Amino acid sequence: MKNGSNLTTPAKAMAFEFLDRNHQATATLNDSIFYFAELGMQEHETAKLMTDLLEKSGFRVERGIAGFPTGFCATYGEGGPVVAIHTEYDSNPDNSQAPGVVAHTPIVEGAPGHCEGHNVNGAVLIASALAAKTAMDEFGLKGTLKVFGAPAEEQVISRPYFVRDGWFDDVDVAFTPHIWGDYSVGYGLIQSALISAVFTFHGETAHAGVAPWKGRDALDGVVLMDMGLAQYREHMMPTMRCQRVITHGGNQPNVVPRTASVWWYFRDTSAEGAMSLFEHAKTIAQGAALMTKTTYDVNVLSAVWPVRGNRTLAELVQRQFETVGQPDWSADEDQLARKLQQEAKVNVTGLISEITPQRGPAVQKPAANDAGDVSWKVPMVKIFFPGNIPNIMFHHWAAGVSLATSIAHKGATAGAKVVAASILECFENPQIVDQAKSTFKDEIAGTAFKSMLPADQKPPVELNREMMERYRPLMTKHYVKDYPTFV
Ligand SMILES: [Zn+2]
Repeated sequence: MKNGSNLTTPAKAMAFEFLDRNHQATATLNDSIFYFAELGMQEHETAKLMTDLLEKSGFRVERGIAGFPTGFCATYGEGGPVVAIHTEYDSNPDNSQAPGVVAHTPIVEGAPGHCEGHNVNGAVLIASALAAKTAMDEFGLKGTLKVFGAPAEEQVISRPYFVRDGWFDDVDVAFTPHIWGDYSVGYGLIQSALISAVFTFHGETAHAGVAPWKGRDALDGVVLMDMGLAQYREHMMPTMRCQRVITHGGNQPNVVPRTASVWWYFRDTSAEGAMSLFEHAKTIAQGAALMTKTTYDVNVLSAVWPVRGNRTLAELVQRQFETVGQPDWSADEDQLARKLQQEAKVNVTGLISEITPQRGPAVQKPAANDAGDVSWKVPMVKIFFPGNIPNIMFHHWAAGVSLATSIAHKGATAGAKVVAASILECFENPQIVDQAKSTFKDEIAGTAFKSMLPADQKPPVELNREMMERYRPLMTKHYVKDYPTFV
């Protein structure tokens, strides 16, 4: 590490020593999750390894929380303050990529792969928790650390359910680590609200050649809903966006489709806006159903508020960036970054070796993250740490190149140090937690947070199961053989 200042405390120094000593274990965990490459809701191997490590280290682990088989909450310590850390560890479809290779080279053709770095997020979550725990023990720090494993971030699913079901009721402050090209932490509104819903139309089959007039075409319902929303795009607020994929369009052309489904994402800068867009989409669906003599139902998979960052916590985290410093990149690592940037036709800047200063309030992005609800329930910040190659677009093979190389390994150790130090600062200086709660109150300015999930909505546990089952047998032989033993 370079640029590291000595704004540290004995507890933080001990956590840093733990993470340096366990650099290889963190790297092995990072690579294990990379090669598991499990899609959202199917992160069984990943969650098992992560919870094993927490349990071995003395955390009380609750698995399957809020109806998520691959979600968990691990707790250590007692009393206040209660500090939560949480992150995701899911992959994406069709993005299998051999690490360190500057050309599209799938490990398994067509298989899921990490193409953003949620594997590194998972490694940082565990390594930082184990490091903070070691220092809590040694220095008798009072407080509770809660570690949440959040499935299916790519479909923006789990954390709204965790919050709705009370898992954050006793939490005081929260941190969520996420990989990036460099360190950064923002306050204010960071991301947007999103409602994810599947509309299914129901009609009647008929022989499409002989007696089509006897059929009621569910696919027509999907198509007309699509046209309705396409016309409405001109009149919706400019901040609103909606996108869809047809997940079921019938079976074969000579059978009039009895059922057809379309999966929509509705986005806006506020929860209220996303909800009003969703409500109007339901009216359009009703119109489509009337026109086609079909009926429709809607299944809300998830609904999340825009991610916001608390200023007190953002400033706290920025101080840890300065303390920890940037990873010391080697010439080879910088060369790999430059080659990839060249290949991807983006700015060839190499890796970043300076700490990015705090830039003031964040610029709100149209992307969403399922951590949004947490950030309206309690003061929270998203901690971005290095490990990605800068300027490379996510969800493309190129973004997978660094994720199981020494670039990600160094980024993971640096990220875990920042997260561990942030946790320890809350335990060593509980006044900062009170301060965060007070600035948070001002920031949300009386907005009453209310989950947008239907009260009886259950998590979509079957999501991605078929695809994962198809590829898992081919992926197993690439799994990392070593176990990440932390000492
Ligand atoms: Zn992500």
